[in-house]
Amino acid sequence: MNFIKNLMQNLVRGPSTVSYPFGPAWTPDKFRGRVAFKLASCTGCRACEQVCAPGAIRFDKTPEGLRFMMWHNSCVFCGLCEHYCPTDAIQQTTDWHLAHAVEDEFTMAIREVIAYVNCSACGAKTLSSAPNPVGVNPPFSAEEIEQQRNLCPGCRKKALAERGATS
Ligand code: SF4
Ligand code: SF4
Repeated sequence: MNFIKNLMQNLVRGPSTVSYPFGPAWTPDKFRGRVAFKLASCTGCRACEQVCAPGAIRFDKTPEGLRFMMWHNSCVFCGLCEHYCPTDAIQQTTDWHLAHAVEDEFTMAIREVIAYVNCSACGAKTLSSAPNPVGVNPPFSAEEIEQQRNLCPGCRKKALAERGATS
């Protein structure tokens, strides 16, 4: 009898599952999906690489600069990279559309390079990365971030000391 009752209830309520990929699928607001990377905000601190247990994130030195690589296939969606990133350069999206053909395996990655530039103050070769905002008070303005981006570590320190209000 229970079977008949359940059958009748289900006929009235309609399906509880979605027909993806033949129809739209629902995604929870806080779903932890595909990782996205914003090169302009990256300081090159490599904290994300350190905390990524499955080794999905790797930095390599190349002739052009510091290369960031993130393999979607290896990611376990733990969210630690986002948690420890000081600038929100790496964030998890709600995108879960990661199914792919085997031959597309090598395209399932983010590859971006923080380029070398000459320091705008002393001319030394340096990485054009975003400055680390941790402990900087008052916070960097957008203009200061762009100024700091093209300074070497020594000239950044000097500029911060001249700024005067850093804690
Ligand atoms: S979400 Fe976790 S597993 Fe995925 S890249 Fe970030 S730290 Fe690595
Ligand atoms: S700024 Fe964020 S994305 Fe860049 S290396 Fe550091 S933790 Fe990783």
